[in-house]
Amino acid sequence: MASLRRALRGMAATCPRRSPALGRGLRPLVSGAGPTSEKSVPYQRTLKEAQDASAAARGPSQPLPGTASVVVIGGGSLGCQTLYHLAKLGVSGAVLLERERLTSGTTWHTAGLLWQLRPSDVEVELLAHTRQVVSRELEEETGLHTGWIQNGGLFIASSRQRLDEYKRLMSLGKVYGIESHVLSPGETKALYPLMNVEDLYGTLYVPHDGTMDPAGTCTSLARAATARGAQVIENCPVTGIRVRTDDFGVRRVAAVETEHGSIQTPCVVNCAGVWAHAVGRMAGVKVPLVAMRHAYVVTERIEGIQNMPNVRDHDASVYLRLQGDALSVGGYETNPIFWEEVSDDFAFGLFDLDWDVFTQHIEGAINRVPVLEKTGIKSTVCGPESFTPDHKPLMGEAPELRGFFLGCGFNSAAECPLLTPTGVHRRFHRSLTDHSRWIRERSHEAYAKNYSVVFPHDEPLAGRNMRTGPLHEVLPYDFCGAYGHRAHEDHAYGRLLGQEYSFSFPPHHDVVKKECLACRGAAAVFDMSYFGKFFLVGPDAGKAADWLFSADVSRPPGSTVYTCMLNHRGGTESDLTVSRLAPGPEASPLAPAFEGDGYYLAVSGAAAQHNWSHIRTVLQDRKFRCQLIDSSEDLGLVSVQGPASRAILQEVLEADLSDDAFPFSTHKLVRAAGHLVRAVRLSFVGELGWELHAPRPSCLPVYQALMTAGAKHGLVNAGYRAIDSLSIEKGYRHWHADLRADDSPLEAGLAFTCKLKSSVPFLGREALEKQRAEGLRRRLVGFTLDEKVPMFGLEAIWRNGQVVGHVRRADFGFTIDKTLAYGYIRDPSGGPVSLDFVKSGDYTLERMGVTYAAHAHLKSPFDPDNKRVKGVY
Ligand SMILES: Cc1cc2nc3c(=O)[nH]c(=O)nc-3n(C[C@H](O)[C@H](O)[C@H](O)COP(=O)(O)OP(=O)(O)OC[C@H]3O[C@@H](n4cnc5c(N)ncnc54)[C@H](O)[C@@H]3O)c2cc1C
Repeated sequence: MASLRRALRGMAATCPRRSPALGRGLRPLVSGAGPTSEKSVPYQRTLKEAQDASAAARGPSQPLPGTASVVVIGGGSLGCQTLYHLAKLGVSGAVLLERERLTSGTTWHTAGLLWQLRPSDVEVELLAHTRQVVSRELEEETGLHTGWIQNGGLFIASSRQRLDEYKRLMSLGKVYGIESHVLSPGETKALYPLMNVEDLYGTLYVPHDGTMDPAGTCTSLARAATARGAQVIENCPVTGIRVRTDDFGVRRVAAVETEHGSIQTPCVVNCAGVWAHAVGRMAGVKVPLVAMRHAYVVTERIEGIQNMPNVRDHDASVYLRLQGDALSVGGYETNPIFWEEVSDDFAFGLFDLDWDVFTQHIEGAINRVPVLEKTGIKSTVCGPESFTPDHKPLMGEAPELRGFFLGCGFNSAAECPLLTPTGVHRRFHRSLTDHSRWIRERSHEAYAKNYSVVFPHDEPLAGRNMRTGPLHEVLPYDFCGAYGHRAHEDHAYGRLLGQEYSFSFPPHHDVVKKECLACRGAAAVFDMSYFGKFFLVGPDAGKAADWLFSADVSRPPGSTVYTCMLNHRGGTESDLTVSRLAPGPEASPLAPAFEGDGYYLAVSGAAAQHNWSHIRTVLQDRKFRCQLIDSSEDLGLVSVQGPASRAILQEVLEADLSDDAFPFSTHKLVRAAGHLVRAVRLSFVGELGWELHAPRPSCLPVYQALMTAGAKHGLVNAGYRAIDSLSIEKGYRHWHADLRADDSPLEAGLAFTCKLKSSVPFLGREALEKQRAEGLRRRLVGFTLDEKVPMFGLEAIWRNGQVVGHVRRADFGFTIDKTLAYGYIRDPSGGPVSLDFVKSGDYTLERMGVTYAAHAHLKSPFDPDNKRVKGVY
């Protein structure tokens, strides 16, 4: 049996080493030519053996019901989790259809590692829940042992930055009760004697991490779900999804078809893993994921490895999983192999390992656990896994088809699904969800960077040129030099981005400072063309607006209102501005022709698709006769903000901009440098200012006219990082950060956007009224720090010595010259969080394990009386 070192040498001899930049494709696949060609999963029991050979030929494991409340497609980890959670939520009559046997897709060969700490509060919560289900709940419910092994997890830091990242995770973990410890190299050696710690900066040890067993977990999930009335049917491939169009013209799921009959159902959950794309196609739903080969090798016995924690050496991009008295060694490469033609016949299957690709992990693994150099490789495990463009799963209802939900694309992290109607996949613009180049590039980058340090201001380099604004410039993605691409020698944006890779104040801190102070002192121009711009028009648009928007937008034409849109739980699906339009029979680029009522909606760019999907869903549910028109690509948006904005704009706009003629929160069609634009007097940074919404071809000439007029007034260009800083300084919320679908506007301090004093019903109203009557259990609180220390979000909030929440959003405010942080706090005793509770606490914020004294604010410390937006300086 060859050792890992021999594998490396063998590769060097047969394939001369070359720069990873040259990539694969220059040489044929060397499958089977490596040190071992034996393929097998390292589990004592799999459900493959549990199948009697003739069962598949006999057809479905149970007769199909004629109807089902929900049909879950796919019996892997996600399908079983989904069925279990549906049953637990009390959904009766749910059915899971699996083409082959449970686990036969990716799940059977998973490494099964569960690491609870991630740089995302949502994922930490999901993983903590997953661990609870797998390690405790399932066993209590079914009496079956899921095979959970709690051997702990150890993250390796070879640099100070990496250890800083771990310390951030440690602080966040405290909010969710996840124990973790930063260890010195010496302490690490004592815990893991076989480890080389000489090049270590430190480690993070999470004692309650562990390993899941795929067969045991899925069997227990299925057992628990069926005990609650759900059905699991194996050997039953889904061959089609029947769709009906309702009286309102809306496409809805009607039935699931199989070779053995069909099941009528209004609801399908696509948990088909790498086959989810094909299942989506059956229903005309785009599923933006790609299949890639992911691999680990299983070693021979290693003396002394028993009971060691699993290891993630991020800097070497490898993981070492305890496998009884051996290790499984895997990792993430810069040149992973795409599985181009996803085969329908791939059940309990494995690929030959491509040693050429895998070899890059060997040196890192041997460096970390030197005994591996002399350890043989018993078998290889290389299987398909699905990856998404932002390395986050696809969950929730598909925008194209009502009743069709996604639960797929788990990027090597099989978490419990979050069953929500506000699907996270709505984050991708619908023009991109079947754009194969965009999906491929972004998924590749997400895979290759899976183990990179997650810096607060990082951005993808892939897929940057798919949707561009009127003032944009681009460089193609180079796939890190893999697949025959030439790596960029100089990528100006990549270089600038690299300078941002810091947990301290990055070099651009001073650039952002200049932009912010110029905006507060004179004026700044912002290109916000990426915003979503929609028209809601038609006979029922007034009724729809009353129902959709929490604020009263039924004001006279010419008014603009800041409002939220809520879900039925009272959670905030969006915050946006709504401008009431005067009816007009003539269409123009700035307004469609319409009868009845009309509104112009401006929403943040990153949330545009989410807003679009939410509004369409509500219009369909309530059968409102109105149209939602997306003009985001046709219109640009340039905004001038600051004390000098009026003087600058007065030179460019043919309109009286005085307070009497053009008050705050109003809009008008006006000429700017000869071009018709919609000017809206609003501010997202807390200054006197206007937004100019203009047809795309007009944006550049209008912008140039503004720059010319602004030169003598000190007008500067400013970017979205300045918007982030200025808006947090003013206490404005950002949807997706300090305002999300699980936060109510009452909790977020946005009660003023809710027409609760009126009797007009609106979506979410009942939930808000209930919440108000019962008292708020959480409240968004702003904090300032005296010490100049950077914060980015995820820091723990301590009140009187107890953790009460974590920071959702933080930034530096340059005018107040302080770090600001916002987070929801709760009372550890479970009681309501009153204003007195907030005011009476002593607070500290914990960043990387160190606490800093903080002052709580319920009102923004900057311009608390809102004078500046009214032009009062
Ligand atoms: C080598 C490797 C190591 C990994 N290690 C880890 C790890 O350590 N930790 C971790 O969390 N994750 C890990 N993962 C990822 C994890 O295993 C997957 O995310 C997870 O198993 C995916 O589960 P799934 O249910 O989405 O997909 P699958 O398990 O593939 O399930 C999909 C199911 O759908 C069925 N199906 C497809 N089409 C149809 C149809 N038309 N009708 C009916 N049924 C259909 C398939 O037969 C299949 O059973 C690893 C993955 C790989 C490849």
